[in-house]
Amino acid sequence: MPMSDLRELYQQVILDHNRSPRNFHRMDDATRMVEGFNPLCGDRYTVYVKLENNVIKDISFEGAGCAISKASASVMTSELKGKTEEEAEALFDKFHKLVTGELHPDVEDDGLGKLAAFSGVSEFPMRVKCAILAWHTLHAALQSKEQVVSTE
Ligand code: ZN
Repeated sequence: MPMSDLRELYQQVILDHNRSPRNFHRMDDATRMVEGFNPLCGDRYTVYVKLENNVIKDISFEGAGCAISKASASVMTSELKGKTEEEAEALFDKFHKLVTGELHPDVEDDGLGKLAAFSGVSEFPMRVKCAILAWHTLHAALQSKEQVVSTE
């Protein structure tokens, strides 16, 4: 696929998930719940996780922020449902490398799925924290370290 078409596709994924975010609701029977905040942009989300035997049975989020942060949280929740904690942490690692420009999905095919849509973020350092916020929050939820995390 030519690079321009690929960029167009990535853009569509982000627009779509921002406009109609998936799993965008609170979860009353969540086993983990952590709030994440990105003071640079003002993005603030709560991530809910229902863990059962190390498997993410259900995951959702609520809150408000810019298009990148909301689309990222939405894609994250759709990709992680049914994954084990270890798989989720491995994807977090890949996603981090992706948005910081260490990983190039067009060259290395590594099962990123729709997460690849955020590869363009690496060209905009200010947006990296927006894209990674939901993941940091999820990471804290899986570690169950804190109830509130900040990207700062
Ligand atoms: Zn943002």
